[in-house]
Amino acid sequence: MNDLSATKTSAAAGTTPNNMAFSGLPLSPAALANLVSLGYTTMTPIQAASLPLALAGHDLIAQAQTGSGKTAAFALALLARLQTKKPDTQALVLCPTRELADQVTQEIRRLARSEDNIKALTLCGGVPIRNQLDSLAHGAHIVVGTPGRIVDHLERGSLPLASLNTLVLDEADRMLDMGFAEEIAAIAAQCPRDRQTLLFSATYPEGIEQISRRFLRNPREVKLSAQPNANKIRQRFYEVAEDQRLHAVGLLLNHYRPERTLAFCNTKAQCRDLVAVLQAQGIAALALHGDLEQRERDQVLIQFANRSCPVLVATDVAARGLDISGLEAVINVDITPDAELHTHRVGRTGRADAQGWAFSLASLDEMGRVGRIDEMQGRAGEFHPLTELTPTGSGPLCAPMVTLQILGGRKEKIRPGDVLGALTGSAGFAAAQIGKINVNEFSTYVAVAREIADAALRALNAGTVKGKRVKARPMEG
Ligand code: ADP
Ligand code: MG
Repeated sequence: MNDLSATKTSAAAGTTPNNMAFSGLPLSPAALANLVSLGYTTMTPIQAASLPLALAGHDLIAQAQTGSGKTAAFALALLARLQTKKPDTQALVLCPTRELADQVTQEIRRLARSEDNIKALTLCGGVPIRNQLDSLAHGAHIVVGTPGRIVDHLERGSLPLASLNTLVLDEADRMLDMGFAEEIAAIAAQCPRDRQTLLFSATYPEGIEQISRRFLRNPREVKLSAQPNANKIRQRFYEVAEDQRLHAVGLLLNHYRPERTLAFCNTKAQCRDLVAVLQAQGIAALALHGDLEQRERDQVLIQFANRSCPVLVATDVAARGLDISGLEAVINVDITPDAELHTHRVGRTGRADAQGWAFSLASLDEMGRVGRIDEMQGRAGEFHPLTELTPTGSGPLCAPMVTLQILGGRKEKIRPGDVLGALTGSAGFAAAQIGKINVNEFSTYVAVAREIADAALRALNAGTVKGKRVKARPMEG
């Protein structure tokens, strides 16, 4: 049985355009039409490699970098098998964090739009279990959750898995990093034996193989090399002395002026120091690291995604798995000792049709690491002098948008349209001046063009949202 030497599919390179069409898959016409309406015209390489196998019922180990479309690769497979008439839970997706579970649930709901009445439910820690018990009592075809909370429900008997036919381990590498191996084992033990198990991961550390051997049956392996699209990403290295490193990040930002940059540091302490240095230079930067509370993490990610914070500073662990796309630049503030990880970092930019920059700051001590990266990328890094970094534009880099926080969210039944209406209605702002609107449980965040931030704030505080007066305040980005 558990034969890991099973078929290996090497994807992408040899795949002809025809094989990249969703229409070649055994999916319902409604599902195919929905993909078109979502703008999914062709499969991503990991989807093309894994969907035929997953739809045929095979267990799967699929590895591809963040942002490669792994969610749809398992979501379409589990949706194809779903019997909506049966109220039982038929698919369970385990994710490392609440954020990722929320992202996965949203993507599943979008992909399920063509079918009536598919219920997908998120079950994560950090929220009262009461509400979850109520939701479960109404039935959920698909459950997406974090391992700890799922184990809780299994122990309470509130999540019957007898009808389960698909178990997905998403971001398996990160779940292992976070110490969830035992929970995963406990959950797998309660799933029917004849289920299908799909394992997705951005990297392929030792532990993944052990997990696969224990929980997967005769899995097919699909691995895509992490080589980012070299034509879309322009990489430059800068040699720095240790005491120039953090200052050099500001030089890069003020010279190239990318709208959104993800800056990677090797340690949390370095993240904190960099944010302080950038802020002192007048550049609004926010740090994402493991010490933040969930609410703070949400706020940081919202501000970065809605273009009101130009720089996100993160460790690799904090950034892993996040669906942050469309970045103009990635900065390697430190060179990572792991050449493959470097490639993953750099692959965060230059997605789809966009060009991206990848800058790396290397001290003499780090040249050995640069050498390993050169070797892996098959070419020598292009070094430029720091002195060529002169400020362009006027003043320090600043974001085009500002986030206003409205106290009141889902609990108050606020919807994005209510906020948009309040600002574009009698307040008179143009829809083009309003950016992303995120409604969380207790707060709503709306991005507005910097020029109108003060006026929009006054309008919100003076007017009403959904017929009620609200309090709003700007978030310092
Ligand atoms: P991963 O899990 O590999 O990190 P995601 O599943 O989060 O990647 O997908 C990254 C982004 O790509 C998402 O915004 C998703 O909506 C989009 N996407 C996925 N598949 C396709 C496709 N075939 N065509 C266009 N966009 C896609
Ligand atoms: Mg993912």
